[in-house]
Amino acid sequence: SPGSSIPPEETLALVKPDAMSPATLEKIMDIIRVNRFEVVNRKKIWMTDNLVGEFYKEHVDKPFFPSLVTYLSSAPVLAMILKKENAAAAWRQLMGPASSTRAREEAPKSIRGQFGTDTRLNAVFGSDNAETAKREIGLLFGETVVPMTLPFDETATT
Ligand code: ADP
Ligand code: MG
Repeated sequence: SPGSSIPPEETLALVKPDAMSPATLEKIMDIIRVNRFEVVNRKKIWMTDNLVGEFYKEHVDKPFFPSLVTYLSSAPVLAMILKKENAAAAWRQLMGPASSTRAREEAPKSIRGQFGTDTRLNAVFGSDNAETAKREIGLLFGETVVPMTLPFDETATT
């Protein structure tokens, strides 16, 4: 913002398959607008299981890893590069905790508090910080990931 000395940073946000209905997407895009993120780029993609595995490689040894890969590769997601001061922390604050039970109790107005189903089906992803965002943006916005041919239309009602 004007007069601030904090440079803007970029983070990666995903709308996960369980939140891709037009009505939920519209509400999430409203939250992004109200909070004055610049949407630097966005595209709808259908991640392969290999790409999800690479994307979430920090979790490869977790018991939930196989179900996480199946979930994220099951249907299209919306990937967005969001930019503002402290974008990564600001977006994670809006997301709320991973567990939707916790989110509903501790942050009912958060995205996960409103739209999450459980600890796995939790509506959105956000990079941990601007450094990890660089790798994740590279993976999803690099040349090897082809956007889906149907254009994303946030006003669609079907
Ligand atoms: P966050 O998405 O808040 O960064 P994590 O990095 O810990 O959370 O987990 C990555 C994703 O893996 C979560 O968003 C969720 O979709 C899934 N996940 C995390 N923990 C579990 C769990 N115990 N059971 C099933 N899925 C989980
Ligand atoms: Mg994480």
